[in-house]
Amino acid sequence: MADRVLEERELEIERLTKQLDYMEQELLEKYCDVGKFVLEKVERENREIDQLTDQVIKVKKELIKVKGEIRCPYCYQYNEPESIYCNRCGKKLEKKKLEEEDD
Ligand SMILES: [Zn+2]
Repeated sequence: MADRVLEERELEIERLTKQLDYMEQELLEKYCDVGKFVLEKVERENREIDQLTDQVIKVKKELIKVKGEIRCPYCYQYNEPESIYCNRCGKKLEKKKLEEEDD
């Protein structure tokens, strides 16, 4: 009788251990799925942010060019085309140096 109880106990331990292994494996797979999903989403968003940032820079440069703004050679601030002094650092804007800034 005692052997029978012991055997049943062993079987129950084995059954629970297998169930636990299975559930932990399933949990791990869920974590992997979420991680993969998040990483892919972040990568996609990053690419879109990079593209949008590039477009913003391009349009800003275009606007500066169309407005004829001049760049300070000392602090790189953009100034109105008719400016004589930089509106940030106050240094005199030299036409010769500013024209080299065209890129
Ligand atoms: Zn300046």
